[in-house]
Amino acid sequence: FLLLGPPGAGKGTQSAIIARRTGVARISTGEMLRDAIARQTPLGAQVAPLMERGSLVPDSLLVALIAERVTEPDCTNGLLLDGFPRTVNQAEALDLLVQERQMELVVLNFDVPREVLLRRLSGRRWCPRCQATYHLENSPPKRTGLCDQCGSSLIQRADDQEDVVARRLQAYDAQTVPVI
Ligand code: ADP
Ligand code: ZN
Repeated sequence: FLLLGPPGAGKGTQSAIIARRTGVARISTGEMLRDAIARQTPLGAQVAPLMERGSLVPDSLLVALIAERVTEPDCTNGLLLDGFPRTVNQAEALDLLVQERQMELVVLNFDVPREVLLRRLSGRRWCPRCQATYHLENSPPKRTGLCDQCGSSLIQRADDQEDVVARRLQAYDAQTVPVI
């Protein structure tokens, strides 16, 4: 499965549900990169400044990350890509991978009005420990400000701040829309 759509469209929420129901491996590039930043790996150090300002990470890094990830044993029953491909170059690299591994693609494209995206992103809250996401109005945690899954304090992702959101939407229009 391949989930396409702008930031805030609900790819993360839906991909978690699809993965749970079908048993396919869920691969979220955003989560993998945030995890690399949290673990302070060389990859994390390289991508942190780009992600903070809402720019895309170079194709070569993402393609290498995905090419390696799909060879892991949990991907033998299928996989679900959330956040990749984000550029035409990445889509072409994926094409090769799909041919090589003889996969079949199901593409789900999420089309959501801009004003809904902005409301979702500004109200989004995030657990830095387990990466669970919540929304102040649409899906608040049981205890205000605390993660249901691990009890950590929720925060706003740095790239969910208004000026950075504008840049992420620009990147989506310029670089990801052509992928559709
Ligand atoms: P969202 O879909 O809400 O924008 P993600 O968690 O998918 O959030 O991505 C967060 C950031 O991670 C992006 O703004 C970008 O900097 C980086 N990123 C994730 N996936 C890719 C990708 N396929 N190509 C380039 N950059 C990516
Ligand atoms: Zn948590």
